[in-house]
Amino acid sequence: MSRAAEQLPSLAAAGRLYPSIILHGGEPAERLALANEIARALLCESEPDTRPCGRCRHCRRIDIENDGVFHPDFVFVRRDAGKRETVIPVDKVRTLLQTAQVSPFEARGQVFVIVEAEVLHPAGANVLLKTLEEPADRSPRNFLLLASSASELLPTLRSRSWTVYLGAGDVGDDDELASDLLDLWRRRPGDEAFALWVSALAARLVEDGGFEDIRARQGWTRIAGAVAAAARRLDRRADRAAALALAADLLDAHRLRQRSIQPRRIIEGLAVRRLRRDRPQTGFASSVNELLGPP
Ligand SMILES: [Zn+2]
Repeated sequence: MSRAAEQLPSLAAAGRLYPSIILHGGEPAERLALANEIARALLCESEPDTRPCGRCRHCRRIDIENDGVFHPDFVFVRRDAGKRETVIPVDKVRTLLQTAQVSPFEARGQVFVIVEAEVLHPAGANVLLKTLEEPADRSPRNFLLLASSASELLPTLRSRSWTVYLGAGDVGDDDELASDLLDLWRRRPGDEAFALWVSALAARLVEDGGFEDIRARQGWTRIAGAVAAAARRLDRRADRAAALALAADLLDAHRLRQRSIQPRRIIEGLAVRRLRRDRPQTGFASSVNELLGPP
């Protein structure tokens, strides 16, 4: 996890956390665990330097993984996958914000968590924005917005929040893909290796089903993690920088997929864009690059 992310619980414990935080990057479970830790640190009643204690009446009732348990000052919303919700409906956001209009029941403040803030219904996002714009003249009110990528949230929400990136996520199962990428590079370094990477990444994405479902992010997140892992092991600094930049681009690439661009062309476009900066003679080009514009 990034250093900035690791510092959030102690900022929360000291009461110095910005009122609205966007937690993005990393794995979904990592974001949930961090949000849980921050929420406990905010409401825990032990001494500031021992928060969150994990044992007090507040800590024990804040548990996102077990659906929150009951704490009147800790509210979180998420999309109900069981009901096949594709967005977080606006009425769920309104219910959450009703709590924000009253004083805390038990704790010294309130904490609101929105899991998958990128699928907030636009009307819900606007209602939330209005609440963030209200001056906090009462007890502390903290909002944690979780998203795979902050770039998917409304710019107005982003400008009202402090954005913290957790990292490229756990490569886990994709160690194998990262090693394959590294082998390809060592065999034919430079631009040709990047061209080979495009094929390997596109193949992996199809395997993960990212090809079929235009909304799916997981496939992109996983190949981005593998690219980042391989990038860190490249010998030349310029190659490392270009490959890391490609990994960051891939985290956001599903947005291009929503415009129905084929995954392979997206990967080609992103790869070529990252290479052109230093190496205009690169051997492969793509119309995706024209869609994306210059780097
Ligand atoms: Zn506690």
